[in-house]
Amino acid sequence: MNETWSEFEQIQPRVVQMLKRSVSKNRLAHAYLFEGSKGTGKREMALLLAKSFFCKEKSDVEHCGQCVDCIRISHGNHPDVHIIEPDGLSIKKHQVEHLQKEFTYRGVESSQKVYIVNEADKMTTSAANSLLKFLEEPESPTIAILLTEKGQAILPTIQSRSQQITFSPLNKKYFIKELQEKGVSETDSYILASLTTSFEQAKSLTDSDWIAQARNVVIQLMRELYERPNQVLFTVQDKWLPLFKEKHEQEYGLDMILLWLRDLLYTQVGKDAETFVDQHSQLQQQALSSSQEKISKSMAAVIGAKKYLQANVNTQLMMEKLLLDIQEG
Ligand SMILES: [Zn+2]
Repeated sequence: MNETWSEFEQIQPRVVQMLKRSVSKNRLAHAYLFEGSKGTGKREMALLLAKSFFCKEKSDVEHCGQCVDCIRISHGNHPDVHIIEPDGLSIKKHQVEHLQKEFTYRGVESSQKVYIVNEADKMTTSAANSLLKFLEEPESPTIAILLTEKGQAILPTIQSRSQQITFSPLNKKYFIKELQEKGVSETDSYILASLTTSFEQAKSLTDSDWIAQARNVVIQLMRELYERPNQVLFTVQDKWLPLFKEKHEQEYGLDMILLWLRDLLYTQVGKDAETFVDQHSQLQQQALSSSQEKISKSMAAVIGAKKYLQANVNTQLMMEKLLLDIQEG
């Protein structure tokens, strides 16, 4: 996906227009700061830029995808394209220095280099200073592309020396379409797109069929709340606890309940559901026996439960309290 500039233009039109212009005029900056949330394509864009930079067979800005340079970049073993990742919690000075040495050493044979710093906000101050020196060497024919989800966490001195490019949040409709093209079912794709904007995360949630099971349990719980309230605590014990074990799974679970309530609110005011798109009749029924005020209170209760979760409370007690709160409204 997003292998070419024109494909990428569908999800990040502004970014593509800006960079395309620089590539075709051969006026790339020495340093870019790509800023945007997870899954918005920063890394892919950086690699695409590197390909257009090195490909000798490109037409206009589009790389050929077949030459040695293109293939090596795709496989992550191009000698002049380097990616620095955090080593543990941070990017350390020696990582930046290592790169600089390597570049200096090789400087004679090849004149151009691209390096990509992933999670650039995790650079230690000394690593950042070391990088700065590098950026300032005017003779170095280098393009640095720094990627970050937290632009504010980047040193101002680095910000001011790089061209900042902001990636827009991922378009939800596009994300749903892409997920379905990758073989995710329609119902799963809608809930995934509401929970995350990252393809990687979406993949990990679909791999073991977890998302489909989780979705079913949420629907069952919500139905029982309205139709068979006596059953609810049993379902928590029997189905919820075994499936939502890890903290991040419990968070997703609460988010799904929140999404259900949001759909219920939409149904209540005559709008279409956005997440549980195939549950129209159940949502309709519940909307009849509920009110906007009651739904809003329930949503507040879920948000409260998410806070408790951070404080490591007993999950079972938290769920029991939450479901009671929703039931009583
Ligand atoms: Zn090529």
